[in-house]
Amino acid sequence: MEVQTTIKKRVFNFGDRKADGDAKFRNLLGGKGANLAEMSRIGVPVPPGFTITTEVCTEYNTLGKEETVQLIKEEVLSSVDNIGGIMGAEFGSDENPLLLSVRSGARVSMPGMMDTVLNLGLNDRSVEAVAARTNNERFAWDSYRRFVQMYGGVVMGMKPGSKEEIDPFEAIMEELKEEREIELDTDFTTEDLKLLVQRFKEAIKLKTGNTLPEDPWEQLWGAVMAVFDSWNGDRAVYYRTMHGYPANWGTAVNVQAMVFGNMGENSGTGVCFTRDAGTGENVFNGEYLINAQGEDVVAGVRTPQQITKLGSERWAELARITEEERRNKYPSLEEIMPEIYKELFEYQRMLETHYRNMQDMEFTIQNGKLWILQTRNGKRTGAAMVKIAMDMLKEGLISQQEAILRVDPVKLDELLHPVFDTKAIKKAKVIAQGLPASPGAATGQIVFHSDEVEKFKNAILVRLETSPEDLEGMHLANGILTARGGMTSHAAVVARGMGKCCISGAGALKINYKERTLTIEGREYHEGDWISLNGSTGNIFEGKVATKEPELTGEFADLMKLSDKFRTLRIRTNADTPKDALAARNFGAQGIGLTRTEHMFFEVDRIKAMREMILASTTKGRRRALDVLLPMQRSDFEGIFEAMDGFGVTIRLLDPPLHEFVPHQLTTQKELADDLHISLEAVKTKVAELEEFNPMLGHRGCRLGITYPEITEMQTRAILEAALNVQARGVIARPEIMVPLVGTLKEFTLQKQVIQETAEQVFRERKERISFKIGTMIEVPRAALIADRIATEAEFFSFGTNDLTQMTFGYSRDDAGKFLPIYLKQGILNADPFETIDQKGVGTLMRIGVGRGREVKPSLKIGICGEHGGDPESVEFCNTLGIDYVSCSPFRVPIARIAAAQAAIKKQIKNT
Ligand code: PEP
Ligand code: MG
Repeated sequence: MEVQTTIKKRVFNFGDRKADGDAKFRNLLGGKGANLAEMSRIGVPVPPGFTITTEVCTEYNTLGKEETVQLIKEEVLSSVDNIGGIMGAEFGSDENPLLLSVRSGARVSMPGMMDTVLNLGLNDRSVEAVAARTNNERFAWDSYRRFVQMYGGVVMGMKPGSKEEIDPFEAIMEELKEEREIELDTDFTTEDLKLLVQRFKEAIKLKTGNTLPEDPWEQLWGAVMAVFDSWNGDRAVYYRTMHGYPANWGTAVNVQAMVFGNMGENSGTGVCFTRDAGTGENVFNGEYLINAQGEDVVAGVRTPQQITKLGSERWAELARITEEERRNKYPSLEEIMPEIYKELFEYQRMLETHYRNMQDMEFTIQNGKLWILQTRNGKRTGAAMVKIAMDMLKEGLISQQEAILRVDPVKLDELLHPVFDTKAIKKAKVIAQGLPASPGAATGQIVFHSDEVEKFKNAILVRLETSPEDLEGMHLANGILTARGGMTSHAAVVARGMGKCCISGAGALKINYKERTLTIEGREYHEGDWISLNGSTGNIFEGKVATKEPELTGEFADLMKLSDKFRTLRIRTNADTPKDALAARNFGAQGIGLTRTEHMFFEVDRIKAMREMILASTTKGRRRALDVLLPMQRSDFEGIFEAMDGFGVTIRLLDPPLHEFVPHQLTTQKELADDLHISLEAVKTKVAELEEFNPMLGHRGCRLGITYPEITEMQTRAILEAALNVQARGVIARPEIMVPLVGTLKEFTLQKQVIQETAEQVFRERKERISFKIGTMIEVPRAALIADRIATEAEFFSFGTNDLTQMTFGYSRDDAGKFLPIYLKQGILNADPFETIDQKGVGTLMRIGVGRGREVKPSLKIGICGEHGGDPESVEFCNTLGIDYVSCSPFRVPIARIAAAQAAIKKQIKNT
């Protein structure tokens, strides 16, 4: 087949203050590639290189290796030449070899998820040339050893066989260390490194049957294709699925001239942040290692040093290290290389100002020359995200709208989780101290292997260090604790990204994976023992430490106020108790969108009366039981009206099928029979009668109120009497009575009639009135379609998107877990429709419902009270529909507030 090679540009060059692309090319060049191009353009010293586009990754997936190589060969040849020209070296030369790095780079950062090969171009001949040119034979062989190890792992598939096995190359190194009676990698002599290269190659041949290629070009093509393959590797697929990134995005490949941080004491490498990624504090910070390569900092094997003096002092305090020891053993870069530090400081300022966002940068110092390897918007905790956005607003770096758009609403969740109770934490026993890698409070049972985290409902994953294989376990654990690694170790970076509490580098921990024990200063802890972590201070505690609810204060409160300025959607909450209603109001809820009255019936003292009501065979018997329930409901409603003083409170009539309330086990059926002085047989018969084939589509919702109007009567009475009672106490109660599961107009009007008649009776008895509304849920597809008819009678609509989704798709809400994960994996659906509104289907029904309803009644109040009310994407969709409010669970209220503000701002931007 004739392959076209010149039609579109597939390879983009950068370096020497020039670049083919820039930041706008992010989707094509990936985040890393676009940033390298942009940095090069603005004069930051990046090692020259080129980016193979993400489109080539997609092409590769269909074409395969050979054809892809043909497709890009010419462009790559000329780009490699270009790098050689800038660096004064030649790729493939035995005398003056140019060495390359090959890295992945998707349009979004996926730390550690895909593969990298460094020092590419080394072989048995060029290694000698590097040794001669750098006058450092050890460095040359150490680089070669690293190359063989990475190439063997990434391209040739030399990986550990099981979780208990260590990396095969590490095993060979450990063996040689034992033979030589040495402890550290740095203790290897040049001869040892040569031997390692030989043993590595033999091991590769033995295990894979293939020989490591000597030809640099063959090496390059192998590495490029391996990076493309890693986009579809297990780790990357898991990460992509977790974050909802589509498979067709692909990854770009960045090929760059190698610069070396391991050329001796005048070289080094590090990672730095323009602000604190944990707290958001505006301080430059980061870590570095002298005489090391990048992965040494991130892998967490050596303990890195702090870049700034301030950071170093703070670190020493936490690590309980004296100032003298700090200065001698762990000095900051600022102290030992002040000139380089000054230069680095300038570049980090420049980059943050340029990108107007907190940057996470990697750098290398090669023989006293500073190179910036990459920059990207830094991952940060929820707390840091809020602080940085608000600080940058105050500093005039970004506008109010930008500050709001900078916030990922879902990440606010981290700020809405419990923190340690101050009293409990004072009493708790600190057993060790590590680095505060990712803030938060976590309590759980110790587990040592990532794939076993699920053993415990609350787990703390304890590891020497983590690697990308641990991702799933980290995600499931409450917190992560590692013995090794700094603030930029894999564990720290990934945990911060997940918003998960993490303590890293707790050196006092002795972990034995085989025995499943953790020993701290002689005391042994076992798998299953409880410990607690304070990711904000680095303290590790014995046992469970009590937590308390979070509060909306400081920058978080400021951000919320700011977002209220922009949003047009109102935010209500779904709350069934006065406590939840109050919590929601403190988070800014403007009323209640849904009180599910049935939840009140499940409490111990009420379930009995409820069961009596259900088992009654006559209306009289039912009324007797309902009379017992009435005062209980009334007092709950009073509490809710009080908590929501002045705001609308939508209370829904009984919705679920009655069989949910009756006992299904023999022992509890016996108890019930005794309680009600009826026979066990009678209970059993009633339970059997209530059994339904499709309860979700059965006798529930308004169908209950229609068959048993006395239930609607009791609930209406409880709502209105409660409203009158609190009104007498000076509270402004605004009751809204909502009829569930309506599908025909008649269903609604029949229930409305019962409500109105009951209301008149209550008002007559009490000799006072209160105004209230009667509306309906739109949750049966038919209701959306006949919304114009329903609107003639209803005063408000509330979309029950849980049921609307269930009935539109025909997926049972309770059983979808069996197939939805597979649907998502196979791309049948892009998102779980029970989490994010399916705009095409369910959304169309909503649009029809809003349109037809308002055709008849232009001022019809419309809201949504399904779970989607707290999902940012769904909130944005609701904003486009022009409905009045979204209602969500109390702890999602701040998320909905910011999401609504973002939706309004985006709409504004679109319209201008
Ligand atoms: C809904 O169906 O969206 C709803 C809010 O009601 P429930 O979840 O109680 O069925
Ligand atoms: Mg419903």
